[in-house]
Amino acid sequence: MKKFLFGALVLGLMSACNTDSLTNQNEIPQDQEPAIAGALKRSCPSEELRAQMLQKNPSLRLKAEEIEARTQNFVNDLKVGKVLADGTVEIPVVFNVIYNTSAQNVSDARIAEQIAVLNADYGATNSDINKIPSAFQPVAAGDVKIRFKLVATNRKQNSKTGWKSNLEEMKKASTGGIDATDVNKNMNIWVVNSILDENGQAGTLGYAYYPENAGQWYDGLVIGYQYIGKTGASAPFNLGRTVTHEVGHYLNLPHLWGSSDAGCQTDYSNDTPVSPGPNYGNPTYPLNRVCGGVSRSQMFMNYMDYVDDKSMVMFSANQKTRMQAVVAASGPRSGLR
Ligand SMILES: [Zn+2]
Repeated sequence: MKKFLFGALVLGLMSACNTDSLTNQNEIPQDQEPAIAGALKRSCPSEELRAQMLQKNPSLRLKAEEIEARTQNFVNDLKVGKVLADGTVEIPVVFNVIYNTSAQNVSDARIAEQIAVLNADYGATNSDINKIPSAFQPVAAGDVKIRFKLVATNRKQNSKTGWKSNLEEMKKASTGGIDATDVNKNMNIWVVNSILDENGQAGTLGYAYYPENAGQWYDGLVIGYQYIGKTGASAPFNLGRTVTHEVGHYLNLPHLWGSSDAGCQTDYSNDTPVSPGPNYGNPTYPLNRVCGGVSRSQMFMNYMDYVDDKSMVMFSANQKTRMQAVVAASGPRSGLR
C-alpha cells in the first residue's frame, strides 16, 4: 500500500513537469509507471511487512542474513560445478599425514586409493555391492550422491609413537600436529601412526566428529595409517572401509545399534533393523539377533557395523537421506563445497 501511494505521488508530480525537460529516456525515474486509467494496480505488502518484522526482531534479521548467505553459497557452488547438475555434492578433502617412520608416511597413491574407495562406496559402484542380500536390496541406498575430491595433502614428521584421541594434539601445529585447513570448506582427515584412548591403550582404527562440531578446529576424521587405502594396508581392514565408516559419522550416521553401547537403540534410520550391538569378522547371512524379545535379521553388511572391510558393502536408503540432509544448502555441513 505504501508503495502504491508513493507511486501515485510520483505520477502526480510527473504530470506537473514540463515534458521538454525529459531529454533522455534513461533519466525517467523508475517509479514513473505507465498510468492505466481506471485499472486496479497490483499491490503486495510482503516487503514492507518483512522490513517491519526485521526491525522489531534482531534474531529474525540474523536468520535472514544467514539464509541469504547460504543461498549465495549455493548459487556460487552451482557456478563452479561443486554441486553437479544432478544434485551430487562433491566434498573437498584435505589429508594431514603425521608420521614417525617413513612406512607411516602413507603414499599419495594410497591416498588416491582411499578417495577412490569413498567415491565407489558413496556412489554404490563398489565391486562387491552384489553381496547385498536380496532381502535388503529394496532398502539399499544406491548412489548417495556425495563424492570426494582430494584438494591437498600435508605432511609432517613427529617422533611421537601414539596420539590420544581426547587430547587432539595431532590437530594443532603447536602440539606437534597439523592445523586443519578451513574446516568449513574441507573435510580434514588426520593420519597418525597410532590412536590411543585416554588411558593410552592402542586399538582404535579411526574416529570422526558428528555435524554438531561443524566449524570447530578439531572437526574431521582421525585414521590410523594402517587403514588408509588398500595397497600395504593391514588386513582385514585393508579395503579403505574404515574411512567410509567414519565419514558416515561425519555425515550424521550413528552405529546400527544406536549412539549408546547399550544397543537396541535407534539409529534414526527405520530401514536398518534394530540391533543389540556390533557384529565382527565376516558373518554368514542371515544372522538373527534379538532386541526387546524380537528376533531380526541383521544388516551386518552395512558400513555402520563393525564387520571386516570385505563384509561391509552398503548404506540404506534412510541413511542416504540423513547424509543428504547434512550436506544440503540448509544443512550443518552445507559449506563443504
Ligand atoms: Zn563408528
